[in-house]
Amino acid sequence: MALHLYDTYERTLRRFEPIDAAQVGLYCCGPTVYDHAHIGNLRSYLFEDLLRRTLEFNGHRVRHVMNITDVGHLVSDADEGEDKMEKGSRRTGQSAWDIAKRFTRAFRDDLAALQIHEPTVWCRATDHIAEQIAFVADLEAAGYTYRTDDGIYFDTSRQPDYGWLARLERSGIRAGARVELGDKRSPTDFALWKFSPRDSQRQMEWDSPWGRGFPGWHIECSAMSEKYLGAWFDIHCGGEDHIGVHHSNEIAQTQARHGTRLANFWMHGAFLQTGDAKMSKSSGEFLRLQTLVDRGFEPLAYRYLCLTAHYRSPLSFDWQALTAAQTGLERLRDAYAADDSAGDADVSGKVDVDALAAFRDALDADLNAPRALAVVWRVARSATEPGVKRATLDAFDAVLGLDIAHSARSARRAPHGARADSPPPEVLELAQQRAQARKEKRWHDADALRGEIATLGFDIEDTADGALFRRRFDKAAT
Ligand code: AMP
Ligand code: ZN
Repeated sequence: MALHLYDTYERTLRRFEPIDAAQVGLYCCGPTVYDHAHIGNLRSYLFEDLLRRTLEFNGHRVRHVMNITDVGHLVSDADEGEDKMEKGSRRTGQSAWDIAKRFTRAFRDDLAALQIHEPTVWCRATDHIAEQIAFVADLEAAGYTYRTDDGIYFDTSRQPDYGWLARLERSGIRAGARVELGDKRSPTDFALWKFSPRDSQRQMEWDSPWGRGFPGWHIECSAMSEKYLGAWFDIHCGGEDHIGVHHSNEIAQTQARHGTRLANFWMHGAFLQTGDAKMSKSSGEFLRLQTLVDRGFEPLAYRYLCLTAHYRSPLSFDWQALTAAQTGLERLRDAYAADDSAGDADVSGKVDVDALAAFRDALDADLNAPRALAVVWRVARSATEPGVKRATLDAFDAVLGLDIAHSARSARRAPHGARADSPPPEVLELAQQRAQARKEKRWHDADALRGEIATLGFDIEDTADGALFRRRFDKAAT
């Protein structure tokens, strides 16, 4: 079976064939860097990583582009309210530029911890202001824009098929409009360029043919995907929340400028839920990857958990499911480690070709990761020739990214099931001094030593069995 992917635009599974055999163009909407990513966001990036690895498994070379939204994403999708970056700046007391840097770094650390491959090209909205202005100028010249008191807007009434991606009924939206219109002519119209406010100074603003201001959020993705992949490329991805506004608007802009719908396939990941609610950055409490690590889980346990659900099915997060995922991951590694005759010259490299074919079939059926995992477990539990199990699991892991070859035995278990990491000698030395300080009730010294241990990248926890060390993750991003 050839690779088939679900295309939201056509609302159907379609056989994937690259536009250019030499290279697949993949664009994924990246993070808005005003805060940490939450594990819901990371579910979307895990789905995109699985897609990329599956394309590579199928022999394609992938040019993967991801933007960093560091300007222009307003608090409300209706082009209202504050820029999220400026809001984040007020919240943290750091400049918008500094928080962009800080949360971009934190995001990349999250990706690394989850073994998500970095994109081939990273592109920041603030580095592409000229491209966005040129895009808007073209739209203006073609008669797709109008000016209001606060910006330049895209006139969606110019496109009879506007919103097709979301199957939007434009007349219905107008009739039941709950959206704040402002000076917009239609609720679906959206900002291409916003003017800086007259009464306050923005941290991020630029000159343009229309006045000082900043680009709207949607134009960055049309402009940057075009720059790095062209106006017609293979696959565009994001979370399902982008279908109705952000991606519909990207398509509108590019269609107006070039007559294409930007990407041949539009793919969307379903949301991670907590209880009944979707997890969102703006709704206050959310779980970061670090929160899972603090509770003693490996980031890769979360990766495993995401693989247990199809990317188009909602996934409910709870701690029990994550514990099961952590256990599953460790058992898989145990099965790998148990096949320890892999060094035999005559068997090394030999894989179970039937299992590999079944694994590929599962992924080729629109990335059916749960089915692929079932194949993995069949191999893990099987009694194959020595070495074959390892070689086959290695081949699977190129797509799964679970670090199956990591020795589960080297990880000492904490009493409550948390994992422990082995610290280097200098950390052990400091820990010994801390234990002594605690014995002598020199609490201040003990705390200072805990701080020193932390700067070396380890957290220390006192358990009934003695000190337990955990590698700190994302040290720089708190
Ligand atoms: P943002 O940083 O808010 O622009 O979002 C980054 C990515 O995460 C986008 O592709 C969103 O669609 C996606 N996303 C946001 N919330 C969730 C969630 N709860 N589950 C899965 N993906 C999400
Ligand atoms: Zn985007």
